[in-house]
Amino acid sequence: MLAEIDVAIIGAGVIGLATAREIAQGKKEVFVFEKNRTFGLETSSRNSEVIHAGIYYPEDSLKAKLCVEGKNLLYELCGKHTIAHKKCGKIIVAADESEVTWLEQLLEQGRRNGVADLVLLSRTEVKKLEPHIEARAGLLSPSSGIFDSHNLLKFLYAQARERGTEFAFGTEVIGIERKGAKYKVQIRDRDGISDVIARVILNCAGLNSDRIAQLAGIDITRAGYRLHYCKGEYFSLDSKYRNLVSRLIYPAPEQAGHGIHWRQTLDGRVLLGPSAHYVEEIDYSVDGTHKQYFYDSAKRFLPFLDLEDLAPESSGIRPKLQGPGEDFRDFVIAHEEKTGFPGLINLIGIESPGLTAALAIARYVRTMMA
Ligand SMILES: Cc1cc2nc3c(=O)[nH]c(=O)nc-3n(C[C@H](O)[C@H](O)[C@H](O)COP(=O)(O)OP(=O)(O)OC[C@H]3O[C@@H](n4cnc5c(N)ncnc54)[C@H](O)[C@@H]3O)c2cc1C
Repeated sequence: MLAEIDVAIIGAGVIGLATAREIAQGKKEVFVFEKNRTFGLETSSRNSEVIHAGIYYPEDSLKAKLCVEGKNLLYELCGKHTIAHKKCGKIIVAADESEVTWLEQLLEQGRRNGVADLVLLSRTEVKKLEPHIEARAGLLSPSSGIFDSHNLLKFLYAQARERGTEFAFGTEVIGIERKGAKYKVQIRDRDGISDVIARVILNCAGLNSDRIAQLAGIDITRAGYRLHYCKGEYFSLDSKYRNLVSRLIYPAPEQAGHGIHWRQTLDGRVLLGPSAHYVEEIDYSVDGTHKQYFYDSAKRFLPFLDLEDLAPESSGIRPKLQGPGEDFRDFVIAHEEKTGFPGLINLIGIESPGLTAALAIARYVRTMMA
C-alpha cells in the first residue's frame, strides 16, 4: 500500500518553510520534499536580506499587500525570537532632475499601498542624513531594514518540525498524477523512485515551480506560468567604506530589478547590487567584467567610489513571470480548482519581495486551504 499524507509541500526555501510552519499547527500530516541536502540553499540564501517597505508595487497587487503585511510580521518575529535585524531605513535617490517626478510618483504609490511613513527629501536633507551621498532629491523609507535571513530559515525549519512537519531532504519530486480527489506524487531519492499519495500539494519550488505545475498537467504557457530567469550579481566593496553610509541607498529601479543599491550587512560588509539580466541557465558565478557597469551605476550617487575597490561577491536568480521588456507581473498564488486540479496550490514567480512577504504568504495559503 502507498504511504498517504495530507499535505505535500514541494521545496524547502523560505516559502515552503514558512508555509509548513503555518499549516502544521492544524493537526495535518505535512511532508516537505526538498531535492537538496538541506533547506534554503537556493534563492532564499542568495538575496539582499532587505526587509522591503512595500513601495514599488501597484496597489491591490499581492506583492504590495503581502509585502506590507509580511514586513510587520517579520519585524515582530525577529524581535520576539532574537533574529538579528536592523530597521536602518532606506533612501531612494533621484540622481538628476528628471528622476524627481518619478520619486514623487513613488511616494504616492507607497502611500496607496499603506506605507504611511515615507518622506520626500531635498538635496540638503539627504546630505544632512547621509553626508557622503550625492542626490538631487531623495525618498526616505524609515521602515525598510535588513535582517539575518539564514537565522530566519533555521527558525522556521525548527518550528515547523516542532509542530510535526516531516522533512525529506535529497528527495526530488519528479511526477504528479491526479487520482480522484488526491494526487500520486512520484519522488526520487537515494533509494530510488517511489510514490506517496497526498490530498493537497503546495508547489513552493521556486525556480522550478513552473515545471512542477507542468508535471501536474497544467498548460503553463496558456496559464501564463512560464518562468524567466533573471540573474542578480553582487560586488563587495573594500572595508575602508564601512560605516560611511548608514542607510540602504537605492537608485531609480531598472525594468527588471530595484537597481544597483548600497547595503551594509549586519556583519559590516558593504555590498553593491543586485544587477538584473535575463539568463537561460542557473549559474551562480559572478562575471568580473561587469565591474565597470556596477561602478558606473553606483558612482552616480556614491561619488567617493574607486573602481579598484570593487570585487565580485555572489549572485542569485529571480524566478520572474515577466519576460524582458514586459509589464509588471504579480505573484501567482493560486488554488487550481477551477483548472481541474482541486487541492493543488501553485506559488509561482515568488521573486522580490518574497522574503519580506514570506510570513504573510504562508497565512494567505492557510486561508486558501481552509
Ligand atoms: C538577487 C535577489 C535579491 C533578492 N533580494 C530580496 C530582498 O532583499 N528582500 C526580499 O524580500 N526578497 C528578495 N529576493 C526574493 C527572495 O529571495 C525570494 O522571493 C524567496 O527567497 C523565494 O523563496 P522560495 O522558497 O520561493 O524559493 P527557493 O528559496 O528557491 O526555494 C525553492 C526550493 O524548492 C526546491 N525544489 C525545486 N524543485 C524541486 C523538486 N522538483 N523537488 C523537490 N524540491 C524542489 C529547491 O531545491 C529550493 O530549495 C531576492 C531575490 C534575488 C534573486
